Amino acid sequence: MKKTTELISVIVPCYNEEEAIPIFYNEIIKISNKLSEYDFEYIFINDGSKDKTLKILKSLSKKDKRVRYVSMSRNFGKEAGMLAGLEYSKGDYVTIMDVDLQDPPSLLPSMLNYIKNGGYDSVATRRVSRKGEPPIRSFFARMFYKLINKMSKIEMVDGARDYRLMTRQMVDAVISCKEYNRYSKGLFSFVGFNTKWIEYENVERIAGETKWSFWKLFLYAIEGIVAFTTIPLAISTLMGIVFCLVAFIAVVVILIKTLLIGDPVSGWPSLACIILFCSGIQLFCLGIMGQYLSRTYLESKKRPIYIVKETEENNK
Ligand code: UDP
Ligand code: MG
Repeated sequence: MKKTTELISVIVPCYNEEEAIPIFYNEIIKISNKLSEYDFEYIFINDGSKDKTLKILKSLSKKDKRVRYVSMSRNFGKEAGMLAGLEYSKGDYVTIMDVDLQDPPSLLPSMLNYIKNGGYDSVATRRVSRKGEPPIRSFFARMFYKLINKMSKIEMVDGARDYRLMTRQMVDAVISCKEYNRYSKGLFSFVGFNTKWIEYENVERIAGETKWSFWKLFLYAIEGIVAFTTIPLAISTLMGIVFCLVAFIAVVVILIKTLLIGDPVSGWPSLACIILFCSGIQLFCLGIMGQYLSRTYLESKKRPIYIVKETEENNK
């Protein structure tokens, strides 16, 4: 019986990437030629781009049948794009990479080797340096990983990229996580399987600019924390208990003091401070509860995670 050639799906989320796509395409073709014993499909996700991204993808897919594309009805974010790619992919092995070549396609042969010969189900990448990134951003990124790893049972690797190669089995497991608020780095870790981590130096974007502002990253970090640990809820309960205890002790102390030496009227500034502090803590804890409640609200609506407007099937 003739052995059928195995298929590798390459998923590429794109948002306003007209400059980067042609360069990326040339690069991935070079790597595919090196891996000639495999078939390839390149699934570009057009995440509601406002530039010529879709036009370029259409002409690429006319020229090269391996190029597929999924075009969203609007910008749904990279997380939704990755999920769409995984759901549309047909490959025995699936990889996700950025179109800006910050995830070097040249690592693909060695990643594949780990899965084929090393007994791994997935090969993930992390960058060891944050060269070319604003120092303040690196600082907050490090703090985030320290914090979340203390709080969550799921391991989050500092510097982990979304760039990874997975077997079909693992892809199906990730797809089976149907949550609306997706934090893929956590989901990849949640589904388990044997993962090999490989490291590389940070590479700067070839063209275009980053889509992540500091604020967007901050919100994404909260997403990660809320999605993978409920410890903040426990902390707010604990804070409540501690404050009740302190208040109780204070009442006892004041009572005894008043009985012994009377009640000279003074100390309103300290009282004002205490009131401010306590109401601040209350709002903080309410905010934490709100974060979880809002996620539950969004999940319960069961809205689709992305909406597709057209794919290469419509372009034949
Ligand atoms: N991206 C996307 N949807 C978005 C934002 C980004 O599909 O809403 C894609 C983008 O085109 C790129 C990848 O996600 O291929 C990573 O984005 P970017 O390079 O801006 O992030 P960075 O590498 O700076 O973290
Ligand atoms: Mg990038």
